[in-house]
Order: sequence, then C-alpha cells, then structure tokens
Amino acid sequence: MSVLNIFRRIDRRFWFICHNCLMRTNHDTVQSVFYSENPQVNLMGRPTMLCPRCNDANTRSFQELKEEGSQSALWGLERLVRKYPRSRFKVRRAAETTKAAS
Ligand SMILES: [Zn+2]
Repeated sequence: MSVLNIFRRIDRRFWFICHNCLMRTNHDTVQSVFYSENPQVNLMGRPTMLCPRCNDANTRSFQELKEEGSQSALWGLERLVRKYPRSRFKVRRAAETTKAAS
C-alpha cells in the first residue's frame, strides 16, 4: 500500500519521453522514458530537455503531453513508470560519463 502511494505521485515536469529513442529502440518505451531534474536548454524559444541516452532534443515532458491533450499516451506512460523503481529511469548522461573518465 505505502509503495503504491509513493509511485502514485508522478511529478510530470521531471518525466520525459524521447521520440528519437522510441524510433531507435523500435518503440521500447522503457528504453525511451527518462526522469531528470536537470535544467532544460532553451532551444528555439522552447525549454527542452536533452535526452541523456542519445543527446537528442526530440523529447516531451509528461507535463507537455498533458497540455497537448495526449491523454491516452500519457496514461500508458504513467502506468509504465509505476511498474518500475524510479532509478530505472534515471539515466546517466553519456557525455558526463566520458568527461569524468578523462
Ligand atoms: Zn533519446
């Protein structure tokens, strides 16, 4: 019960889906959703979160999906992220890993 309560609260501003990863993984949503509290970059006047997996800007926050009215997509994604621990979706940025190693 308590575990369910924790996962019921999804802060949509910090959850993202990467459309590039969706294409790359043949629509494997587990491999395309990520959680990030990093600052977004301003891309053509739109705050954008770069995908930590592929560094692509073709991402949407769950909040944006909601505002766009993509309710069915959002529902499926939130159902998915509740099935796994949040750490599953905290992706270490590839660039940061490289920088730390050098
Ligand atoms: Zn991606």
